[in-house]
Amino acid sequence: MSFVSSVFPSATILGYPRIGDRRQLKRALESLWAGRSNADEFAATTHQLRAATRERLAARGLGRDDSSIPESFSWYDQVLDAAVTFGVIPDRFRSLDWSGDLVGAYSTVARGVGDDAPLEMTKWFNTNYHYLVPEVDESTPFVLNPTLVTSLVDEARAQGFVTRPTIVGPVTFLALSKAATSASTGFDPLSRLDELVGVYVELLAVLVERGVQWVQLDEPALVSENLSVDATALEQAFVAAYARLTSADARPNILVTAPFASLGALAEPVLNSGVEAVAVDLVHGDLPAAVPDGVTLVAGVVNGRNVWRCDLDQARRVLEGVHAGSVAVSTSTSLQHVPHTVADEPTLDPTLASWLAFADEKISEVVTLARGLTQGWDAVASELDDARTVLAARAAAPGVTVPHVRERVAGITHADLARTTIDGKRASIASRVAQQQERLQLPPLPTTTIGSFPQTADIRRARAQWTRGDLTDADYQVQMRTEIERVIRLQEDLGLDVLVHGEAERNDMVQYFAEHLDGFVVTENGWVQSYGSRCTRPSIQWGDVSRPAPITTQWATYAQSLTPKPVKGMLTGPVTIMAWSFIREDLPLAETAKQIGLALRDEVGDLEAANIAVIQVDEPALRELLPLKKADHKDYLDWSVSSFRLATTGVRPDTQIHTHLCYSEFNDIIDAIDHLGADVTSIEAARSRMEVLGALAVSGFGRGVGPGIYDIHSPRVPSVEELAELLDLAVRSVRPELLWVNPDCGLKTRGYDETVASLRNLVQAAHDVRAHV
Ligand code: GLN
Ligand code: ZN
Repeated sequence: MSFVSSVFPSATILGYPRIGDRRQLKRALESLWAGRSNADEFAATTHQLRAATRERLAARGLGRDDSSIPESFSWYDQVLDAAVTFGVIPDRFRSLDWSGDLVGAYSTVARGVGDDAPLEMTKWFNTNYHYLVPEVDESTPFVLNPTLVTSLVDEARAQGFVTRPTIVGPVTFLALSKAATSASTGFDPLSRLDELVGVYVELLAVLVERGVQWVQLDEPALVSENLSVDATALEQAFVAAYARLTSADARPNILVTAPFASLGALAEPVLNSGVEAVAVDLVHGDLPAAVPDGVTLVAGVVNGRNVWRCDLDQARRVLEGVHAGSVAVSTSTSLQHVPHTVADEPTLDPTLASWLAFADEKISEVVTLARGLTQGWDAVASELDDARTVLAARAAAPGVTVPHVRERVAGITHADLARTTIDGKRASIASRVAQQQERLQLPPLPTTTIGSFPQTADIRRARAQWTRGDLTDADYQVQMRTEIERVIRLQEDLGLDVLVHGEAERNDMVQYFAEHLDGFVVTENGWVQSYGSRCTRPSIQWGDVSRPAPITTQWATYAQSLTPKPVKGMLTGPVTIMAWSFIREDLPLAETAKQIGLALRDEVGDLEAANIAVIQVDEPALRELLPLKKADHKDYLDWSVSSFRLATTGVRPDTQIHTHLCYSEFNDIIDAIDHLGADVTSIEAARSRMEVLGALAVSGFGRGVGPGIYDIHSPRVPSVEELAELLDLAVRSVRPELLWVNPDCGLKTRGYDETVASLRNLVQAAHDVRAHV
């Protein structure tokens, strides 16, 4: 057995962005999938990316050979990595060439092939990152395939590094897995924990033989109260699993991480489980009461989730409050949720840039704090001073506090949150439905789409040229209007009932609004991985929010002018704007939500005044920001729902408000969805075969609902029969007069051929089902 040092480095991070500062991984994946490059070329590019990342982290001050650099690269997703490492591969993918073409087989599980659906995707705790949900049943084999982990370790060593492999821990892995087949309803994947741990033990032995000193096992499930497994079961599972892992004959030291919130009562069992180090999130959670001797507390004091420079004085106070024999400084979470570096933002206002810290800058903060802790705070006096100055300057900067915005927020009353008639009486849902139907004259089971149509290369090019100044405003207008007209005619031809303008002018449903609201800036290279090869560029909200001018009305009115059918106005709701941006932290989220709610309320009012009869306000991220602790749910749901109501209740009873929800399971917030008060809610449901409708039916949801019947995440064209079958399934839970027919989500990532074919089938299915309900 090789020598295992038990000293944990004084500074570390829990993970680093793996997509590459120029999205190299995205390009490499897409070119591999498109057959433009082969597996060798892909391996070379990703090798280069990882090697550059290690050097980059070392240059920032993390040690080259003391395990302080986490090996957090992944081809696509860290949960899929664990699934592949432990052989948790669904039957339908087991015959792929796992030994010959690992990246090919791996990609197929992530993306599906033919009728073999990929693993489902869902959000990673309260982040905007999506992981792939492993499928586990009674007989899923667990077999070690250490290649993904060992190849990184070997590569690092060849480069002269001793890094720290990171793997999703066994408890979190199974807590996030789902029972594989409907036959195994009631089966709990955690019941197979002991068998899985056996394979983790094998992996540990392989790693120690390769000179690994520390391994990181990520166990964020420990902090979440939103999983189906309760705290007692989680604790029992953890204690059993780690008793076995820590007593393994040959193993590296183990760091368990518990990012995103407090460990709470689980801190005690985790710290006493026999592992050598525990990483706790001291930004989003509390300090554990006692740390046993011999255990290193890895103190997550630098926020891994935001883009703001750290208040180093505050972090220092937290560190000084830690009573543990051994303390290390770290980020609170992996840095995979933030962009690479502020240094790569040449167009950002320098004052604003001075307030920011992305991944690289956060590493420097960690290193500074670790130096203060080990060498005395005088050693870092100038860094602390610098941070203090910046924070003070920011608080006093113009735009951070805007009096007229604050006054308007202070003036919000209860009446602003209710739908009323012109004479101020409450407009009941029944009277609204009647007036809206009178105005819209829709058939039963009305058909519609969620908003965006495929974004063609021409459209993207026109937007990019116009942004760069290479296309005049007038030419841009012409191109966008031509596209809108094309999309309207297409929808008329397809026979859809409620049309959309197609969102061609929007790069992204949040960034577009951020660009048009005061208080936000957008970045140039601030990409963050959303899943696999997909990245988003979250905007940064730094000051009070207001709307200097109408945003969407000109496009909506143009679209409506082309057709007698209703065209939906299309907005992104306050919660989603917040969830998918980096939000200031010097004001409570609830206050920012009100500011955005008011800005959108004005936009909704302008759309209504322009005779737009149906207005959709998307809130796909409503569930995403749900706090991980149950005690915090009510407060969150109060302010989030209120902000949506603030945005949408200023309209007349005969204006129909829609909302759209996706990307999450919504079963546990059905009441909140009801409280949004939207007249019609479209909700993702195709992949789960209308599962959410059961929950809606139980709650007696009395509003219009459009369960998505066409899964837009895949290029597959669903048949009329399949679509009609899903509608028939829906009719079992939803009264036909409340049922709408629509896809799962927007179509912007799809191609035109499959979209047209699918929508044609969708309209046909609606006709077929209308005939017999
Ligand atoms: N209206 C948006 C669209 O169609 C909604 C997207 C979403 O829910 N993510 O693209
Ligand atoms: Zn959606």
